[in-house]
Amino acid sequence: MSIMVPSKTPALITPGQQALDSALHQLGHAAEHLGLDDGLRTMLATPRRSLTVSVPVRREDGRMDVVQGFRVQHNVSRGPAKGGIRFHPHTDIHEVTALAMWMTWKCALVGIPYGGAKGGVSVDPAALTTRELERLTRRYVNEILPLIGPEKDIPAPDVGTDEQTMAWIMDTYSVNAGYSVPGVVTGKPMTLGGSLGRAGATSRGVQIAALAALGRSPEGVTVAVQGFGKVGALAAQYLADVGCKVVAVSDVRGAVCAPSGLDVADLRAYSAETGSVYGYRHADALGHAELFELDVDLLVPAALEGVITEENAPRIRARLIVEGANGPTTPEADEILAASGTTVVPDILANAGGVIVSYLEWVQNMQAFSWSAAEVEMKLRDLMRSAYGEVKSLAAEKSLTLRQAAHVIGVGRVAEAHQMRGLYP
Ligand code: NAD
Repeated sequence: MSIMVPSKTPALITPGQQALDSALHQLGHAAEHLGLDDGLRTMLATPRRSLTVSVPVRREDGRMDVVQGFRVQHNVSRGPAKGGIRFHPHTDIHEVTALAMWMTWKCALVGIPYGGAKGGVSVDPAALTTRELERLTRRYVNEILPLIGPEKDIPAPDVGTDEQTMAWIMDTYSVNAGYSVPGVVTGKPMTLGGSLGRAGATSRGVQIAALAALGRSPEGVTVAVQGFGKVGALAAQYLADVGCKVVAVSDVRGAVCAPSGLDVADLRAYSAETGSVYGYRHADALGHAELFELDVDLLVPAALEGVITEENAPRIRARLIVEGANGPTTPEADEILAASGTTVVPDILANAGGVIVSYLEWVQNMQAFSWSAAEVEMKLRDLMRSAYGEVKSLAAEKSLTLRQAAHVIGVGRVAEAHQMRGLYP
């Protein structure tokens, strides 16, 4: 007797598979628009290298746990692979592949000479002590050591990792090399060759993209931000700094809301002290889902993928969405939002500030030289504004959404690089 099992039951699709489906859907549209041949489409849909590793970790009580880690280099046709490292319990090879693919288009879109990569470990960093986290990081890096290097593949922080993680990575790589190699990672502490402006770069880019898309004074513009980590908290701060009224924010533990506007600096201090925005006494508690449906002008998703879906998109009232997170909107939700006239500034444009300043950090490391905060910010603004302008013009000219236009530009540049280089042998 045989048992019929549907090949793709919704319950069996992981968030990572959903993210990869979205990335492939977006690539498919761009490839169609650009008229790419089947061979090139397949090449762009396939990562150049994918490594899955087992990472044994010695716990404080002497036990050994083994977790899975990944590093995916999606494309290296325009330069070394570049992309963050995520520590999250749901991270899998599909998610990391999707994130690596988006990195490829993002770097091409903003015109920096990198390919796309991403790394991840399926682990909850909050469940580990600092010493366990250090051992895990060093062992993971040791496992992916053959892939990374300042001329090959340069990691950076992402969800669940930070400056300290980057310092451990730099040290582990350097000890193996026999000398200090600051250019192997970006998002490092200043004392190890980090760049001024890197910590807030992604959020600054979100602010620049939001102001460009608003096209009017930000004074009094109401904002809701999902995710209050490295990207979300400073995005909220930078938007508040220019006069926006941030009325709601959330993190994994809960959401808070104050219709008259949150004191973002005070909330950041509270969250830094307690580990969450949850319980902040100058605001009301809010459901996670409710944050998306608030009557605000601007919504900034800055947490994880697949949070704006066909289910909640019809209830989103914000007319402008600026994606701090990678992949927060599914293709089905995109269609609903486009039909309702909602502008979505896509991830590969809106959150590119992080990789732009990572690139500037790497350039400074490779030259053993440093730029002032003002120089870094000026270069960031120039690259963000010019990419925004190109996307906006193409979208208007070809009647595309901003996401479609951004992908046509990013994918088109990578395709062109492949065509110019030719196929070896
Ligand atoms: P982070 O780990 O610093 O912060 C993530 C935040 O999201 C935390 O506040 C966490 O509590 C919150 N969160 C997680 N699940 C949530 C949920 N279900 N509901 C509400 N909040 C939730 O990570 P980060 O570096 O700020 O990255 C956030 C997003 O931005 C990711 O998509 C990442 O890929 C993207 N991004 C980050 C950078 C960067 O420089 N760090 C650059 C570009 C894009």
